[in-house]
Amino acid sequence: MEQAEDRNERSLLRTPNSELRTKKLKRVLLIFPRERGIKFSNDTLYPFPILGLTLLAALFPKTYEVKILNEVIEEVDFDAEVDLVGITGLTCVIKRAYEIADRFRERGVKVMLGGVHPSLLPEEAKEHADSVFIGEAEGMLHKVIADFESGDLKPFYKNREWSDLKGMPLPRRDLLNKRYRPFFKVIETTRGCPNRCEFCSVPIINGKRYRLRPLEEIDQELSTIIHKKGEYLFLSDDNVTARQDYAFGLFEIFKRHSVKWMGFTTIQIATNEKLLEKARESGCISLFIGFESLLQENLDNVSKRFVDTKELSNLVKTIQSHRIGIQGAFIFGFDGDDPTIFKKTVEFVQKNNIDLPTFSVLTPFPGTPLFYRLEREESIFDRNWSHYDMSHVVFKPKKMTVQELQEGYLWAQKYICAPRSILKRLLWGPKHHFFHFLMSNFVLRGAQMAVIRRIRKEEMPKPPITKLQSSNNQQGYKDQ
Ligand code: SF4
Repeated sequence: MEQAEDRNERSLLRTPNSELRTKKLKRVLLIFPRERGIKFSNDTLYPFPILGLTLLAALFPKTYEVKILNEVIEEVDFDAEVDLVGITGLTCVIKRAYEIADRFRERGVKVMLGGVHPSLLPEEAKEHADSVFIGEAEGMLHKVIADFESGDLKPFYKNREWSDLKGMPLPRRDLLNKRYRPFFKVIETTRGCPNRCEFCSVPIINGKRYRLRPLEEIDQELSTIIHKKGEYLFLSDDNVTARQDYAFGLFEIFKRHSVKWMGFTTIQIATNEKLLEKARESGCISLFIGFESLLQENLDNVSKRFVDTKELSNLVKTIQSHRIGIQGAFIFGFDGDDPTIFKKTVEFVQKNNIDLPTFSVLTPFPGTPLFYRLEREESIFDRNWSHYDMSHVVFKPKKMTVQELQEGYLWAQKYICAPRSILKRLLWGPKHHFFHFLMSNFVLRGAQMAVIRRIRKEEMPKPPITKLQSSNNQQGYKDQ
């Protein structure tokens, strides 16, 4: 009762002729679900600000009171007074998203599901929602709202257009839990990726056409969120340097705002030293680079032919020589990988002093070319989406057994999370941004060790027995 009065008081709107009148706001709850122990939603010291939901919140008209809830740091109140619930879902947390949706729907609250997994498997998501949103919200949400208000929500909304990034509203960062605020700000400058890596869902979700925000709009947005020199900025872009001419302009703006920034790119950036120099001058401290594999045949097979694996060490040195650290991502389980790959990759990471390495198991996310290929080859044996967190093996690899891949991944992960490995890489490496990477490694270590413990306790689904499964790991990492 008290809460209801509170809300009414807040919704007393002053009309142009200064009369006060009560206008009931519609309440929307946007939820980012979490499942304990899942790699992408683990409890960490720094819960990641959810840019997607803040952008979505900005698209609602002023007659809506929007709340954003990240389950990583807040619990869902299933009794909350709310008119509409929107839930976004990555594949690995979709089970939890469906649970939340079912609970609200039991009370008669309308629920919409959107985001990566519902966009890829809308029919499955519809079982748990009144409506499923496929694709990007920009350019479509106004239609959803009109239908919601007239009580005529459609089962599916499919946005066939890739939205123009021009004139995007400012994300509603003010709606984020206060626990986000002391750390880093997140901004989006481009969307999509022109490459077509077989395992990656970015070209399907964000498009193969590389879209750019106008530089002046980024400049304006930074003016509203960067208040002092040296603030941390994280770029949510899939590939910030895919258009190098644009990147030069962007870095000039970052320099003017005196930020320290981190973002995703490809190793190709190392072939343009002028761009690297500009990145460093603009405050770049760390680049997240998908190395994926050290085997050329793997990269060729998954359409990442633009990387020459023989050059990798030199390219790493070039980036580090510009005082930029590397967050390097590697994947195990490609067709060319046998049990020797784990030790080879760990050695590469240690020898080249990769500042913040991350290892993953190859995962056939629904909708990706990899998923369809492995389906045709009848290799996928586990369809529990909670296992699609890039830590569990859900398909039969070609040159090792399922168990060898799972154990090899856990071994490699544990190795690079060990304090000895972290300190060796950071102390023998170029030591740029030492404390930043020291802290990042130990934060990541906490999350990764939780995943390892969880997998060790689990009863994993067993694939059908094949010849390979009886191989005895003679070439494996354990024997080297
Ligand atoms: S893996 Fe990276 S380079 Fe490849 S398609 Fe995805 S975002 Fe682009």
